[in-house]
Amino acid sequence: MATKLYPWQQDVWQQWQQLIATDRLPHAILCAMSDGTGRDVLVQYFSDTLLCLTQGTEPCGFCHSCGLVESGNHPDLHWIRPEVEGKSISVDQIRQCNLWALESSQFNAKRMIIIEPAEKMTESAANALLKTLEAPPKNCQFVLLANSPHHLLPTIRSRCQVWQQPEISSEVIEAWLGETEKLKVSKQSITLNGYLPLAVKSFYQDKKQAAHQQLLSYFDTCVNSSFCHTSEVVKSLIKLDDEGLCWLSYLLSDIQKRQLGIITDWVHCDEKEIIERLAIRIPANTIYKQYLSLNALRQQLNAHSGLNKELLLTQWLFEFIGE
Ligand SMILES: [Zn+2]
Repeated sequence: MATKLYPWQQDVWQQWQQLIATDRLPHAILCAMSDGTGRDVLVQYFSDTLLCLTQGTEPCGFCHSCGLVESGNHPDLHWIRPEVEGKSISVDQIRQCNLWALESSQFNAKRMIIIEPAEKMTESAANALLKTLEAPPKNCQFVLLANSPHHLLPTIRSRCQVWQQPEISSEVIEAWLGETEKLKVSKQSITLNGYLPLAVKSFYQDKKQAAHQQLLSYFDTCVNSSFCHTSEVVKSLIKLDDEGLCWLSYLLSDIQKRQLGIITDWVHCDEKEIIERLAIRIPANTIYKQYLSLNALRQQLNAHSGLNKELLLTQWLFEFIGE
Protein backbone atom coordinates (compact mmCIF):
# COMPACT_ATOMS: atom_id res chain seq x y z
CA MET A 1 0.00 0.00 0.00
CA ALA A 2 1.32 3.41 -0.98
CA THR A 3 1.35 5.22 2.35
CA LYS A 4 1.88 8.64 0.82
CA LEU A 5 -1.55 8.39 -0.78
CA TYR A 6 -4.89 8.99 0.89
CA PRO A 7 -6.88 5.84 1.71
CA TRP A 8 -9.56 6.61 -0.92
CA GLN A 9 -6.93 6.78 -3.68
CA GLN A 10 -5.72 3.19 -3.41
CA ASP A 11 -8.19 1.82 -5.97
CA VAL A 12 -7.20 4.20 -8.75
CA TRP A 13 -3.56 3.84 -7.82
CA GLN A 14 -3.63 0.04 -8.07
CA GLN A 15 -5.18 0.30 -11.53
CA TRP A 16 -2.50 2.78 -12.58
CA GLN A 17 0.16 0.42 -11.25
CA GLN A 18 -1.28 -2.28 -13.48
CA LEU A 19 -1.01 0.03 -16.48
CA ILE A 20 2.59 0.88 -15.58
CA ALA A 21 3.54 -2.78 -15.02
CA THR A 22 2.05 -3.89 -18.33
CA ASP A 23 3.30 -0.88 -20.27
CA ARG A 24 -0.20 0.18 -21.29
CA LEU A 25 -0.17 3.77 -20.03
CA PRO A 26 -2.01 6.15 -22.34
CA HIS A 27 0.13 9.14 -23.27
CA ALA A 28 -2.38 11.55 -21.72
CA ILE A 29 -4.41 11.08 -18.56
CA LEU A 30 -7.22 13.36 -17.51
CA CYS A 31 -7.85 13.29 -13.76
CA ALA A 32 -11.41 14.54 -13.61
CA MET A 33 -11.36 14.93 -9.85
CA SER A 34 -12.08 17.78 -7.49
CA ASP A 35 -9.04 19.24 -5.73
CA GLY A 36 -10.78 18.44 -2.43
CA THR A 37 -9.89 14.78 -3.07
CA GLY A 38 -6.15 15.48 -2.88
CA ARG A 39 -5.71 14.74 -6.60
CA ASP A 40 -2.31 16.48 -6.70
CA VAL A 41 -0.95 13.98 -4.17
CA LEU A 42 -2.06 11.09 -6.37
CA VAL A 43 -0.59 12.66 -9.50
CA GLN A 44 2.66 13.58 -7.76
CA TYR A 45 3.07 9.97 -6.62
CA PHE A 46 2.33 8.72 -10.13
CA SER A 47 4.91 11.13 -11.49
CA ASP A 48 7.51 10.10 -8.86
CA THR A 49 6.98 6.50 -9.93
CA LEU A 50 7.43 7.18 -13.64
CA LEU A 51 10.52 9.33 -13.09
CA CYS A 52 12.17 6.88 -10.66
CA LEU A 53 15.20 5.24 -12.25
CA THR A 54 14.36 1.79 -10.86
CA GLN A 55 11.36 1.71 -13.23
CA GLY A 56 9.12 -0.16 -10.82
CA THR A 57 5.53 0.50 -9.82
CA GLU A 58 6.48 2.60 -6.76
CA PRO A 59 9.13 5.31 -6.43
CA CYS A 60 12.21 3.86 -4.69
CA GLY A 61 12.89 7.08 -2.77
CA PHE A 62 16.69 6.63 -3.03
CA CYS A 63 17.80 7.08 -6.64
CA HIS A 64 19.15 10.31 -8.09
CA SER A 65 15.83 11.02 -9.79
CA CYS A 66 13.81 10.50 -6.58
CA GLY A 67 16.25 12.84 -4.83
CA LEU A 68 15.72 15.55 -7.44
CA VAL A 69 11.94 15.20 -7.18
CA GLU A 70 12.22 15.49 -3.39
CA SER A 71 14.22 18.71 -3.67
CA GLY A 72 11.84 20.11 -6.30
CA ASN A 73 14.54 20.28 -8.98
CA HIS A 74 13.79 17.46 -11.39
CA PRO A 75 14.49 18.72 -14.94
CA ASP A 76 11.96 16.33 -16.53
CA LEU A 77 9.05 17.27 -14.27
CA HIS A 78 6.90 20.25 -15.25
CA TRP A 79 3.82 21.38 -13.33
CA ILE A 80 1.95 23.99 -15.36
CA ARG A 81 -0.25 26.25 -13.28
CA PRO A 82 -1.66 29.77 -13.84
CA GLU A 83 1.11 32.31 -13.29
CA VAL A 84 -1.28 34.29 -11.10
CA GLU A 85 -3.59 32.26 -8.87
CA GLY A 86 -7.13 32.10 -10.20
CA LYS A 87 -6.11 33.42 -13.64
CA SER A 88 -5.69 31.57 -16.94
CA ILE A 89 -2.97 29.26 -18.23
CA SER A 90 -1.63 31.14 -21.25
CA VAL A 91 -0.81 29.95 -24.74
CA ASP A 92 2.86 30.85 -24.08
CA GLN A 93 2.93 28.46 -21.12
CA ILE A 94 1.55 25.67 -23.31
CA ARG A 95 3.99 26.47 -26.14
CA GLN A 96 6.78 26.05 -23.59
CA CYS A 97 5.21 22.70 -22.63
CA ASN A 98 5.25 21.62 -26.25
CA LEU A 99 8.98 22.36 -26.43
CA TRP A 100 9.64 20.34 -23.26
CA ALA A 101 7.60 17.50 -24.71
CA LEU A 102 9.92 17.31 -27.70
CA GLU A 103 13.16 17.49 -25.69
CA SER A 104 14.87 14.29 -24.69
CA SER A 105 14.86 13.29 -21.06
CA GLN A 106 17.89 14.22 -18.96
CA PHE A 107 17.89 10.68 -17.55
CA ASN A 108 16.75 8.64 -20.49
CA ALA A 109 13.43 8.16 -18.77
CA LYS A 110 10.00 9.76 -19.00
CA ARG A 111 9.22 13.47 -19.10
CA MET A 112 6.19 14.54 -17.10
CA ILE A 113 3.95 17.45 -17.99
CA ILE A 114 1.16 18.10 -15.50
CA ILE A 115 -1.43 20.82 -16.16
CA GLU A 116 -3.49 22.04 -13.21
CA PRO A 117 -6.24 23.15 -13.38
CA ALA A 118 -6.59 22.22 -17.05
CA GLU A 119 -9.89 24.09 -17.36
CA LYS A 120 -7.93 27.31 -16.83
CA MET A 121 -6.24 26.99 -20.23
CA THR A 122 -7.34 29.73 -22.61
CA GLU A 123 -8.87 28.52 -25.87
CA SER A 124 -5.68 29.18 -27.79
CA ALA A 125 -3.67 27.41 -25.07
CA ALA A 126 -5.98 24.39 -25.34
CA ASN A 127 -5.61 24.38 -29.13
CA ALA A 128 -1.82 24.55 -28.84
CA LEU A 129 -1.90 21.57 -26.48
CA LEU A 130 -4.21 19.68 -28.81
CA LYS A 131 -1.59 19.70 -31.56
CA THR A 132 0.88 17.95 -29.25
CA LEU A 133 -1.69 15.48 -27.98
CA GLU A 134 -2.57 14.55 -31.56
CA ALA A 135 1.02 13.57 -32.30
CA PRO A 136 2.31 12.57 -28.86
CA PRO A 137 6.09 12.64 -28.47
CA LYS A 138 7.63 9.42 -27.25
CA ASN A 139 8.25 9.02 -23.52
CA CYS A 140 6.35 12.12 -22.57
CA GLN A 141 3.51 11.64 -20.10
CA PHE A 142 0.78 14.27 -19.95
CA VAL A 143 -1.55 14.57 -16.97
CA LEU A 144 -4.40 17.05 -16.96
CA LEU A 145 -6.23 17.84 -13.75
CA ALA A 146 -9.75 19.23 -13.94
CA ASN A 147 -12.82 19.26 -11.71
CA SER A 148 -14.98 17.86 -14.46
CA PRO A 149 -14.16 16.53 -17.95
CA HIS A 150 -16.97 18.75 -19.30
CA HIS A 151 -14.98 21.84 -18.48
CA LEU A 152 -12.52 20.95 -21.26
CA LEU A 153 -12.77 21.12 -25.04
CA PRO A 154 -14.26 17.83 -26.32
CA THR A 155 -11.29 17.48 -28.66
CA ILE A 156 -8.88 17.58 -25.68
CA ARG A 157 -11.07 15.24 -23.67
CA SER A 158 -11.17 12.66 -26.43
CA ARG A 159 -7.36 12.56 -26.58
CA CYS A 160 -7.08 11.65 -22.90
CA GLN A 161 -7.97 8.64 -20.84
CA VAL A 162 -10.38 9.97 -18.22
CA TRP A 163 -10.11 8.89 -14.59
CA GLN A 164 -12.49 9.84 -11.82
CA GLN A 165 -12.28 9.56 -8.07
CA PRO A 166 -14.68 6.81 -6.94
CA GLU A 167 -17.26 8.07 -4.44
CA ILE A 168 -15.87 8.60 -0.94
CA SER A 169 -18.22 7.54 1.86
CA SER A 170 -18.83 9.60 4.99
CA GLU A 171 -17.47 6.68 7.04
CA VAL A 172 -14.14 6.86 5.23
CA ILE A 173 -13.95 10.63 5.77
CA GLU A 174 -14.90 10.37 9.46
CA ALA A 175 -12.33 7.63 10.05
CA TRP A 176 -9.56 9.46 8.20
CA LEU A 177 -10.07 12.79 10.01
CA GLY A 178 -10.50 11.02 13.35
CA GLU A 179 -7.25 9.16 12.88
CA THR A 180 -5.04 11.80 11.31
CA GLU A 181 -6.38 15.03 12.82
CA LYS A 182 -8.25 13.79 15.92
CA LEU A 183 -11.28 15.59 14.50
CA LYS A 184 -14.84 14.48 15.13
CA VAL A 185 -16.79 15.72 12.14
CA SER A 186 -20.54 16.05 11.66
CA LYS A 187 -22.53 14.46 8.84
CA GLN A 188 -23.62 17.97 7.85
CA SER A 189 -20.04 19.15 7.39
CA ILE A 190 -19.46 16.21 5.03
CA THR A 191 -22.54 16.83 2.87
CA LEU A 192 -21.89 20.58 2.89
CA ASN A 193 -18.41 19.95 1.51
CA GLY A 194 -19.54 17.56 -1.21
CA TYR A 195 -17.95 14.44 0.40
CA LEU A 196 -14.52 15.93 -0.31
CA PRO A 197 -12.21 14.95 2.56
CA LEU A 198 -9.75 17.84 2.24
CA ALA A 199 -12.60 20.35 2.03
CA VAL A 200 -14.09 18.90 5.24
CA LYS A 201 -10.69 19.18 6.91
CA SER A 202 -10.37 22.81 5.86
CA PHE A 203 -13.94 23.49 7.03
CA TYR A 204 -12.85 22.68 10.58
CA GLN A 205 -9.30 23.90 10.56
CA ASP A 206 -9.73 27.17 8.66
CA LYS A 207 -12.59 28.51 10.79
CA LYS A 208 -15.11 27.99 8.00
CA GLN A 209 -17.51 26.24 10.35
CA ALA A 210 -18.01 29.45 12.34
CA ALA A 211 -18.31 31.50 9.13
CA HIS A 212 -20.99 29.12 7.87
CA GLN A 213 -22.98 29.43 11.10
CA GLN A 214 -22.69 33.18 10.97
CA LEU A 215 -23.87 33.39 7.36
CA LEU A 216 -26.94 31.27 8.14
CA SER A 217 -27.71 33.40 11.15
CA TYR A 218 -27.35 36.66 9.16
CA PHE A 219 -29.58 35.31 6.40
CA ASP A 220 -32.20 34.16 8.91
CA THR A 221 -32.20 37.58 10.62
CA CYS A 222 -32.36 39.33 7.24
CA VAL A 223 -35.41 37.33 6.10
CA ASN A 224 -37.15 37.73 9.45
CA SER A 225 -36.59 41.48 9.54
CA SER A 226 -38.18 41.87 6.08
CA PHE A 227 -34.73 42.44 4.58
CA CYS A 228 -33.64 45.31 6.81
CA HIS A 229 -30.26 43.66 7.46
CA THR A 230 -29.00 42.91 3.97
CA SER A 231 -25.56 44.45 4.41
CA GLU A 232 -24.39 41.81 6.93
CA VAL A 233 -25.35 39.03 4.51
CA VAL A 234 -23.70 40.79 1.57
CA LYS A 235 -20.48 41.51 3.50
CA SER A 236 -20.32 37.94 4.69
CA LEU A 237 -20.88 36.60 1.14
CA ILE A 238 -18.20 38.85 -0.34
CA LYS A 239 -15.72 37.63 2.27
CA LEU A 240 -16.56 33.97 1.69
CA ASP A 241 -16.56 34.24 -2.10
CA ASP A 242 -18.10 31.33 -4.03
CA GLU A 243 -18.11 29.04 -1.00
CA GLY A 244 -20.65 31.26 0.80
CA LEU A 245 -22.89 31.32 -2.28
CA CYS A 246 -22.62 27.55 -2.50
CA TRP A 247 -23.72 27.20 1.16
CA LEU A 248 -26.64 29.53 0.57
CA SER A 249 -27.62 27.60 -2.54
CA TYR A 250 -27.70 24.39 -0.46
CA LEU A 251 -29.80 26.18 2.15
CA LEU A 252 -32.38 27.28 -0.43
CA SER A 253 -32.46 23.78 -1.87
CA ASP A 254 -33.07 22.36 1.63
CA ILE A 255 -35.89 24.87 2.19
CA GLN A 256 -37.49 23.81 -1.10
CA LYS A 257 -37.27 20.18 -0.04
CA ARG A 258 -38.99 21.04 3.24
CA GLN A 259 -41.73 22.91 1.36
CA LEU A 260 -42.28 19.85 -0.82
CA GLY A 261 -42.56 17.68 2.28
CA ILE A 262 -39.19 15.96 1.78
CA ILE A 263 -37.57 15.73 5.18
CA THR A 264 -34.63 13.47 4.41
CA ASP A 265 -31.41 14.09 2.48
CA TRP A 266 -31.01 17.69 3.50
CA VAL A 267 -27.49 19.05 3.21
CA HIS A 268 -28.16 21.11 6.34
CA CYS A 269 -29.33 18.13 8.37
CA ASP A 270 -28.35 19.88 11.66
CA GLU A 271 -30.28 23.09 10.90
CA LYS A 272 -33.85 21.84 11.13
CA GLU A 273 -35.04 24.83 13.14
CA ILE A 274 -33.87 27.51 10.71
CA ILE A 275 -35.09 25.56 7.67
CA GLU A 276 -38.56 25.07 9.20
CA ARG A 277 -38.75 28.77 10.00
CA LEU A 278 -37.65 29.95 6.54
CA ALA A 279 -39.85 27.38 4.77
CA ILE A 280 -42.88 28.98 6.45
CA ARG A 281 -41.70 32.55 6.06
CA ILE A 282 -40.73 32.60 2.33
CA PRO A 283 -43.29 31.58 -0.33
CA ALA A 284 -42.33 28.46 -2.31
CA ASN A 285 -42.34 30.18 -5.70
CA THR A 286 -40.00 32.90 -4.37
CA ILE A 287 -37.56 30.32 -3.01
CA TYR A 288 -37.61 28.47 -6.32
CA LYS A 289 -37.00 31.62 -8.35
CA GLN A 290 -34.27 32.85 -5.99
CA TYR A 291 -32.56 29.47 -6.00
CA LEU A 292 -32.31 29.55 -9.81
CA SER A 293 -31.13 33.16 -9.92
CA LEU A 294 -28.54 32.51 -7.19
CA ASN A 295 -27.03 29.67 -9.23
CA ALA A 296 -27.01 31.85 -12.34
CA LEU A 297 -25.34 34.62 -10.34
CA ARG A 298 -22.67 32.18 -9.12
CA GLN A 299 -21.85 31.20 -12.69
CA GLN A 300 -21.72 34.83 -13.74
CA LEU A 301 -19.39 35.79 -10.87
CA ASN A 302 -17.13 32.81 -11.53
CA ALA A 303 -16.90 33.54 -15.24
CA HIS A 304 -16.26 37.29 -15.06
CA SER A 305 -13.97 39.03 -12.63
CA GLY A 306 -14.46 42.71 -12.01
CA LEU A 307 -18.26 42.61 -11.58
CA ASN A 308 -19.78 44.70 -8.81
CA LYS A 309 -20.45 41.87 -6.36
CA GLU A 310 -21.90 44.09 -3.69
CA LEU A 311 -24.51 45.52 -6.03
CA LEU A 312 -25.43 42.17 -7.61
CA LEU A 313 -25.78 40.41 -4.25
CA THR A 314 -27.85 43.25 -2.76
CA GLN A 315 -30.15 43.17 -5.80
CA TRP A 316 -30.52 39.43 -5.44
CA LEU A 317 -31.49 39.77 -1.76
CA PHE A 318 -34.07 42.46 -2.52
CA GLU A 319 -35.69 40.18 -5.08
CA PHE A 320 -36.93 38.12 -2.12
CA ILE A 321 -39.38 40.94 -1.37
CA GLY A 322 -40.84 40.60 -4.85
CA GLU A 323 -42.21 43.09 -7.25
ZN1 LIG B 1 13.85 6.23 -7.37
